[in-house]
Amino acid sequence: MRKIIILSILISILFIGFILFRTYNFIKNTPVNLKETSKAEIDDKAVENLLKSVSIPVVTLKDYKNSDFSRHIKFKEFLESTYPEIFEQLEFRTINSYSLLFKWKGKDEKLPPVVFVGHYDVVEADETSLKEWKYPPYKGGIENGKIFGRGTLDDRGSVIALFQAISKLIQEGYTPNRDIYFAFGHDEETGGVNGAKAISDWFFDNNIKPEMVLDEGGRVELLENNTQNAYIGVCEKGRLLINLKLKSKGMHASRPPKETSVTKLADAIRELNKNQSKAVLIPQAKDYYKATFNNRSLITRILIANSDILKLFLFKKLQQNPLDNAYIRSTIAITQLKGASSANAIPSVAVATIDSRILPEQIPDDMLNHIEKVLSKKFGKDEYEIEVISKTDPSNVSDTNSKIFKKLADEISSAFPSANIVPYMIPAGTDAKYYEKISKNVYRFLPILIKPEEYSLMHGTNEYISVENYMRMITFYNSFIKNNF
Ligand SMILES: [Zn+2]
Repeated sequence: MRKIIILSILISILFIGFILFRTYNFIKNTPVNLKETSKAEIDDKAVENLLKSVSIPVVTLKDYKNSDFSRHIKFKEFLESTYPEIFEQLEFRTINSYSLLFKWKGKDEKLPPVVFVGHYDVVEADETSLKEWKYPPYKGGIENGKIFGRGTLDDRGSVIALFQAISKLIQEGYTPNRDIYFAFGHDEETGGVNGAKAISDWFFDNNIKPEMVLDEGGRVELLENNTQNAYIGVCEKGRLLINLKLKSKGMHASRPPKETSVTKLADAIRELNKNQSKAVLIPQAKDYYKATFNNRSLITRILIANSDILKLFLFKKLQQNPLDNAYIRSTIAITQLKGASSANAIPSVAVATIDSRILPEQIPDDMLNHIEKVLSKKFGKDEYEIEVISKTDPSNVSDTNSKIFKKLADEISSAFPSANIVPYMIPAGTDAKYYEKISKNVYRFLPILIKPEEYSLMHGTNEYISVENYMRMITFYNSFIKNNF
């Protein structure tokens, strides 16, 4: 008996030693290199142009036909009058009336083109938050090296930075070796079907196969311990949108039974919250956890370093944080609820809208089956109904071994010498997904150095981009094009 106890103690000590050794090695192999990121020169005219663009709020409505398209036209006119040299030098066409497509003809027709993508529509500033803005969202303002205004970060900053970069290249007398396209969608914030999708269709119909498509989505993130991670989006999650309907007898609210459609719906939501879909560790998640390793607690580090043998514990730890959780599983978010139309009625149907985001390697139907399985354990077939609103498959995973990925990564490394290159999954959706049918190298990256809390101002109150970051984008686009295309 004593022998067994001693043996188990020995094995435990060896096991703990083993996982600590692996954790130590993991730390040793996770680079932290702190080189100074060069400061970009400030161009006042470029700043002024971005601020001017903020005053043309292009909002495309979900109800597409009823959008105020005079704003789209105004934005195009603003570009024409601000950058006449670009309209002169590059071929220009509109796609679906409002998306803008420029082609800069290259010297060598045989080389495949590249496409820079952005969107000039913005998310509407929430009425109730207007008072909290330092500067009116559609007027903007500059304070302490920050350019405030709706869209400055998402995605006008990048769009105008591209225009500034092209303009500078023209001034420098540059002609590209290959064709370069610049494609600006007009409805990204409402799904991109009329913009980016139509642009991609145009490429497809004309049999043009770009070597690379570069859109927004990634960034260089500055973490607390000064680690810099350059996240290059190589894929994005899919989406399943459904209405979950729970049923009961409709009746007057003065004599409610214990269970109604509404109480059942509440139960169903609880059940779905309790039974999340199965966690998995996809390669992009592994890269992401490795890249953020040095910013994790000791326990999390031990679990990440030993993820192959302690996976279940790692998942338990990661699912406590919403962003980490989004990396390890397809998620379920309840976003809208609907009951009776009057206050004194128990509805015969109570509805919850569920916005579910699907991991690469899975499909929306996997989630549908999961939800069905959870509900069928609790409710009878006639008690609930699932209405599918839309299904979007996750994107492909773009190639990280391609020559062009290396070029992009090299350019990022020279602009941000301290940054670790991290191929990464976008947990939300971008216009980029529409381009995968014309190129296998679709990347999502904005050349900015930004803290997570600053990045989360996208779509929020007091959205801003620092003057420095805006300048970094202009410099990056300029030299990326000059050095490679
Ligand atoms: Zn955007």
